Amino acid sequence: MKILVAVKRVIDYNVQIRVKPDNSGVEKDNVKMSMNPPDENAVEEAIKLKDSGEVTEVVIVSIGQEKCQDTIRTALAMGADRGILVKAGDDIEPLAVAKTLKNIVEKEKPNMVLLGKQAIDDYCNQTGQMLSAILNWPQGCFVSELGINDSAITISREIDEGLEQLEIQLPAVVTCDLRLNEPRFASLPNIMKAKKKPIEIIEIESLGVDTIPKVKYLKVEEPPVRQGGVMVADVKELIQKLKYEAKVI
Ligand code: AMP
Repeated sequence: MKILVAVKRVIDYNVQIRVKPDNSGVEKDNVKMSMNPPDENAVEEAIKLKDSGEVTEVVIVSIGQEKCQDTIRTALAMGADRGILVKAGDDIEPLAVAKTLKNIVEKEKPNMVLLGKQAIDDYCNQTGQMLSAILNWPQGCFVSELGINDSAITISREIDEGLEQLEIQLPAVVTCDLRLNEPRFASLPNIMKAKKKPIEIIEIESLGVDTIPKVKYLKVEEPPVRQGGVMVADVKELIQKLKYEAKVI
């Protein structure tokens, strides 16, 4: 069984995001970039399935600028076998990412595609769902448990009413939740080994995917600064403030 994992290079989740002075977006220059956190869970799950003998090959794909190779190398150091970089601009939208992934799926013929549930930069939560639709494959989204059962997978996913358990026929698209597992740290020897693992480079133009943005960002603004809290002397004062200042009761 072969698994394809899609990983996105995003601004590291510890970085304090700054809006550009012209409000056209956020500052990305000289900012630490990392693998999108739920994508680390996707990579970890694929490698765990490989460790257990159920999967024979884990292929990583990232779409974006040359620097995405660093993100692919991180996944290779965690234990994935090889990588594919599809070179594109970093403003590529989920629909174009999904169409690009479809091309890679047709070439690689994996049994399952794992993605993160959401990218923390654009918060779109669209790519996995779109990929499933254009491949006409079933999907399991926000998965927090995954098991392989012959030609199907069993998954748990969190919904408003609790945990939903589903069986999904392979091939399938799965988007991973942060609760799925604890991603491993790559050891130094594995980081060194990963340098020798192959990364194929494909130009997005050669795939014939329309990458022209369909969504225009009108304005990006910082959220309003939060007001500091105040200490109140007693419950009476708290109720007064909630009633007459905050006007919430
Ligand atoms: P989104 O729909 O943008 O929230 O992204 C959901 C998931 O799709 C991410 O967690 C990644 O697994 C995958 N993805 C999105 N953009 C890319 C990209 N440029 N390259 C590779 N994978 C991506």
